[in-house]
Amino acid sequence: MALLTIENLHKSFADQVVLDGIDLQVDEGEIVVVLGPSGSGKSTLLRCINFLEQPEQGQIRVASASVDAAVARNRDIQTLRRQTSFVFQNYALFKNKTALDNITEALTVVKGMSAKDAEEVGRKVLSSVGLADRADAWPSELSGGQQQRIGIGRAMALDAPLMLFDEPTSALDPEKVHEVLELMKVLARQKRTMIVVTHEIPFAREVADRIIFMDGGKVIEQGTPEEVLDNPQDERTRAFLRQVL
Ligand code: ADP
Ligand code: MG
Repeated sequence: MALLTIENLHKSFADQVVLDGIDLQVDEGEIVVVLGPSGSGKSTLLRCINFLEQPEQGQIRVASASVDAAVARNRDIQTLRRQTSFVFQNYALFKNKTALDNITEALTVVKGMSAKDAEEVGRKVLSSVGLADRADAWPSELSGGQQQRIGIGRAMALDAPLMLFDEPTSALDPEKVHEVLELMKVLARQKRTMIVVTHEIPFAREVADRIIFMDGGKVIEQGTPEEVLDNPQDERTRAFLRQVL
């Protein structure tokens, strides 16, 4: 069953077309990896799914929430946003909040949870990301890998139906990439529905149910990891893979 449906999505910045009619369905429990060269529109696609960017045209449905870009109403956008959680390339943690508070903030503010319940969820999540003992640490006291595990923990705590990851490991030192990918593999095994923009090809091969290749604001081709990585049909996909493999 489709959890996410995108129909005919268009987004421009000034006169630059960045998303040029994207259609995409993601099933419940499916793990989709998005590949594509820099500037192909991958981040913009993720950001349009929860209206961090406002598309000019198109329809986004996640679970029972639905927004048509042409008539986007604030209330519908808020409902849509609650269906997704976002993991950013640069972690986007609150620097003046502890690890625990970074996770509980959205639970109390957005979900209206009591401080006590939020702390309980927060501590549980900290322990599942392997940072139970760092609850009171400031982000500046954590390694990049640990900060991103907090970023992922924050997304997990929201317990939204769809998780969006925008190059979650590309800001990390190479030796820290592994711990973040391992955590994402745990989420994948739990069959969380995920869209992951990444250049980590071995991760994509192991975890993705489907790989989508984007270029110039369009989905150029998609298929299983074997289809896209081992037998790419489009010359642009082949050229990209030569660069990253
Ligand atoms: P990717 O994530 O695939 O590298 P992006 O979605 O970030 O690509 O960007 C696609 C294009 O849109 C790029 O040319 C980028 O410069 C442009 N772009 C992205 N965000 C903005 C913005 N807020 N304002 C103007 N141009 C933008
Ligand atoms: Mg990007």
